[in-house]
Amino acid sequence: MSTKDYLEKDYYKTLGVAKGASTDEIKKSYRKLARKYHPDANEGDPKAEGRFKEISEAYSVLSDEKRRKEYDEARTLFGGGGVRMPGSGSAGGNYNFDLGDLFGSSGSAGGRLGDLLGGVFGRGGGATGTTQARPRRGADVETETSLSFSDAIDGTTVSLRLTGEGPCKVCRGTGAKAGTVPRVCPTCEGTGQGSRNLGSFAFSEPCKTCRGRGLVVDDPCAECSGSGRAMSTRTIQARIPAGVADGQRIKLAGKGASGERGGPPGDLYVRVHVEPHPYGTFSRSGSNLTITVPVTFAEAALGAEIKVPSHGGMPVSLRIPAGTPNGRTFRVRGKGVRRKDGTFGDMLVTVNVQVPHELNDKARDALESFRDATAGGDPRAEMLKNANG
Ligand SMILES: [Zn+2]
Ligand SMILES: [Zn+2]
Repeated sequence: MSTKDYLEKDYYKTLGVAKGASTDEIKKSYRKLARKYHPDANEGDPKAEGRFKEISEAYSVLSDEKRRKEYDEARTLFGGGGVRMPGSGSAGGNYNFDLGDLFGSSGSAGGRLGDLLGGVFGRGGGATGTTQARPRRGADVETETSLSFSDAIDGTTVSLRLTGEGPCKVCRGTGAKAGTVPRVCPTCEGTGQGSRNLGSFAFSEPCKTCRGRGLVVDDPCAECSGSGRAMSTRTIQARIPAGVADGQRIKLAGKGASGERGGPPGDLYVRVHVEPHPYGTFSRSGSNLTITVPVTFAEAALGAEIKVPSHGGMPVSLRIPAGTPNGRTFRVRGKGVRRKDGTFGDMLVTVNVQVPHELNDKARDALESFRDATAGGDPRAEMLKNANG
């Protein structure tokens, strides 16, 4: 049984006991009724069989302390059985909430209670009488996209194919067969509301004939079986802002599933995957771009003004001071990735000192002179001395 049964069925009445009945009273009454309606004693009587099932269901809830408590709470909160939940696959009921929330955690009614009570009590008295079923916001949708390194930095527009539920194209969401139209529900005269009096309260509830829609369909659309809803695929253009990072989730407000009965659309969430730079030239570190550039030994030792590529622009000049060690990183301000606030990150340039593979005679002579000029200092001297403690 589903939680919706809790609201529709009066288990106490089924078992013929008072709401405050003790466990013993419930058990006694159940046994008496179960004997009376047991299929063995009523062979070939479907009515008795149905009764027997109802009795068993009622007993399974009321005999279990925890479930009985949940049942009582649900009925206290929601008006003691006056509420009819929309059936699954119906053209849409009045309430869009999840009873699982209510029963799932610690017995608290949770944030959706207000929503629900708005539906149950909001039109109490039934005096206005013309209220249609409430609009329903469209669902949020999640999808993924892959961006090139460059597009992620600069921002781009991507085409996204989305599959989701929307109005049936054949009947345009009416649920009625082509050439026919739904007609106004004769029970509620199109209001979608039924009402029910309990003591001094008048509860309004979705009309049972049309399930709150206000319309009934005589010849259902074959495509959607009268639901008016169908799965469809649409393609949308989505603007991806500059500077998104790999794994980031972007919210596109109002680009989710369309709402029902004039409700607003849901939101679209796009999970972004960013590909590495095609030549491995740049990497990303937050809003900074990183790059490793080769420099010659002479440039590192003597200092130099070098040119470094930048993303999407002219190369930038970078001064390498004399005596720059291998692996040192220099910061070029403002040459990184655009941030949300419009400012830019930096480009971090790391130097990688190159050792020549081959030397011509002139270079060899020069290096030998260099070696002689710097002789006398063994860079490993300290290490050798300290190796054995
Ligand atoms: Zn249809
Ligand atoms: Zn109706």
